[in-house]
Amino acid sequence: PIVLGIESTCDETAASVVQGRTLISNVVASSMDEHARYGGVIPEIASRAHAEAFVPCVSKALADANMTLSDVDAIAVSAGPGLAGCLAVGVSGAKSLAWAANKPIYGINHVIGHIAVTQLQFGPFPEDTLALIVSGGHTSLLHVEDVARHIDVVGTTLDDAAGECFDKVARLLGFPYPGGPHIDRHAQLGDPHAIKVPQGLTQGKAGQQHPYDFSFSGVKTAVARWIEEQQAQGNEIPVDDVCASLADSVATVLAKKAMRGCEQYDSKTLIVGGGFSANSQLRAKLLEVGAEHGVEVRVPQLKLCTDNGAMVAMLGVNLVEAGVAPSNPDFAIDSAMPLTKISM
Ligand code: ATP
Ligand code: MG
Ligand code: FE
Repeated sequence: PIVLGIESTCDETAASVVQGRTLISNVVASSMDEHARYGGVIPEIASRAHAEAFVPCVSKALADANMTLSDVDAIAVSAGPGLAGCLAVGVSGAKSLAWAANKPIYGINHVIGHIAVTQLQFGPFPEDTLALIVSGGHTSLLHVEDVARHIDVVGTTLDDAAGECFDKVARLLGFPYPGGPHIDRHAQLGDPHAIKVPQGLTQGKAGQQHPYDFSFSGVKTAVARWIEEQQAQGNEIPVDDVCASLADSVATVLAKKAMRGCEQYDSKTLIVGGGFSANSQLRAKLLEVGAEHGVEVRVPQLKLCTDNGAMVAMLGVNLVEAGVAPSNPDFAIDSAMPLTKISM
């Protein structure tokens, strides 16, 4: 099937055409630069940017594919999770297109799209597989029985997401938003063992382990405290070493728990997705431990890690192929859509 995918959950307006497992076109417009000076995404500015970029993005995605709306079998759009005002623009636009062209529409889960997109490079999911979602808002380990129908959450962050932790430390170091890529770049120049950064391993009450949950807020606090101490003593901050040590700690715990999960669930494949999967330290670590454990690690190419329309279209293809009923044409957005809900 041919699916037009539309994305507007946060600061990227994006549209893409996917046919089967082939990426036909992929257009992304970002309002990131407009938010940089505020140190974070301003919902009102982002929503307005979506309204301006929606028609140009969709038109270009169809033009690049040499198609018109009548050529697609279905339209998929991110229905959540995300910023309500932003979601409303993309979903209203997508509904209008579906109405006008008389096409079925699927309101899909953006975060599940982040892992679905790997199929464009690696082909269909194995029947039972583990997936690691690492994005700006999510850090979770999922058991994917069937990407179109059934997903369970195996573990999740109890506080901050990995990307959020990087962005917060980046802010302390004076990098502009989003800081994740800056930490990545500096980490490549530093010593990952220079500073002792705690691993976000979580202990439940009475020493009870939560084997697959994550916690990154303590990691951020530890780094913040270390920086403050150095500043109080008048020491210069070894930025590269701070970044390298943080990146190593976060990548290590993510990789360790993902592999433990693969063992427990007997999964020979680990699907990875989300903006933070662009992180070079995590990519390297996952491939390393994957090779050790005999697990094939499927990480998206860089341009498909951060928000895009191809991930939405790909999940749309999965839903069409699985024969899942399209969404009711008046479906609502869900800014807090749970990971177990794949489509509306
Ligand atoms: P969600 O998908 O959970 O709704 P989101 O869509 O806002 O959240 P993404 O766009 O998937 O998040 O990812 C953005 C995050 O990825 C930011 O936190 C950003 O710092 C981080 N990020 C992007 N590239 C890198 C990198 N190379 N290293 C570390 N972090 C990165
Ligand atoms: Mg973004
Ligand atoms: Fe995302």
